Amino acid sequence: MTATALAGRARRYDSARVRADFPIFERQVNGRPLTYLDSAASAQRPRAVIAAVDHYETHLHANVHRGVHALSQEATAAYEGARERVRRFLNARSTKEIIFTRGTTEAINLVANAFARPRLGSGDEIVLTRLEHHANIVPWQMAAAATGATLRVAPIDERGELRFDEFSALLTPRTRLVATAHVSNALGTVLPVARIVAAAHARGIPVLLDGAQAVPHGGADVQALGCDFYAFSGHKIYGPTGIGVLYGREALLREMPPWQGGGDMILSVSFEGTTYNDLPWKFEAGTPNISGAIGLAAAIEYLDSIGPAAVRAHEQQLLATATAALQQLPGLRVIGTAAEKAAVLSFTIDGIHPHDLGTILDHEGVAIRTGHHCAMPVMDFFGLAATARASFGCYNDLTDIDRLVAALHKAHEVFG
Ligand code: PLP
Repeated sequence: MTATALAGRARRYDSARVRADFPIFERQVNGRPLTYLDSAASAQRPRAVIAAVDHYETHLHANVHRGVHALSQEATAAYEGARERVRRFLNARSTKEIIFTRGTTEAINLVANAFARPRLGSGDEIVLTRLEHHANIVPWQMAAAATGATLRVAPIDERGELRFDEFSALLTPRTRLVATAHVSNALGTVLPVARIVAAAHARGIPVLLDGAQAVPHGGADVQALGCDFYAFSGHKIYGPTGIGVLYGREALLREMPPWQGGGDMILSVSFEGTTYNDLPWKFEAGTPNISGAIGLAAAIEYLDSIGPAAVRAHEQQLLATATAALQQLPGLRVIGTAAEKAAVLSFTIDGIHPHDLGTILDHEGVAIRTGHHCAMPVMDFFGLAATARASFGCYNDLTDIDRLVAALHKAHEVFG
């Protein structure tokens, strides 16, 4: 049965209308319609985002927080308005808790430098999981190396699920922080973050959630999650690159020293000393990515206009359909079969290297990701150097799955 034939099972969702909002789909790749299945690496932008950035650049640009002139005030209002939009999106209590960063990576580095390092000493521990992206490993390794702390890594099972009991057993009086993905980028596993936060908080341990792969598939409510820090990137939720967000609990952010110094993060400076700015600007040294923040707010607005729950349901339908279709292909093994997954499908095919697969699919206009997905410890766990990964966004539909399956058949012909 083709994916299109399975359409009867799909919920009503106007993917054609959604797709029409994304001008990238007007182009062809290698003479074929674009089948974009790499949204987990970076999602495409709708016209609304492109227009918001264009409007800012054309009509509003000036530096923020500095000028008394009209443009600066309008740019400041737009930038701070974007912060308020993000606050509502995450359901944070205050805009003081919303810090603009370059992305998830910088958000995690901010916490590693300004929160963890001053608190860590020899014998202290940070608990991670085996599912982390390198962005949620390396900053902690650097902090540990500088302070004498150590990392403890909670294991996963063959399905790619966290072994929760073993995770809990790692929480001890030495644990200073738990830092974990909300959703694994390599496998799609949705981690049991509510249980993780509850277990850590029961021992007084703060929790950072890496939400880079969770937010695109339905948003996040930081108050409901109860986490202390939450990080995500604009470009994975249909916004621009170079902009992201760190949510931090206000009480913790207040205690933290700034991690970068410069303009905008100060109230007054003399050679005798500096008084730092209030939250959130204390953590935003220098001229920020103003157009990026505005584009991010437009992306959130766009996602909200479709409805995060509808997007999630549509993507889950695509994931189920694609998983069923791919499993019928000879030699294909799905890597990551957790009970709860976001719309990420990692796989290998016997006898075909993932990079070769990626190249053949590209000739067919099908863009997938191949490699270690910046999650080498996950690949090691499965004894693999690389997988092929198809990931779905709000603009994908069942035709994309049919094209993926047809391209995989082609790869079989070439290598068969
Ligand atoms: N964390 C996860 C789970 C990711 O998937 C990614 C990017 O793929 C990152 C962190 C890093 O995001 P960025 O490169 O936008 O900082």
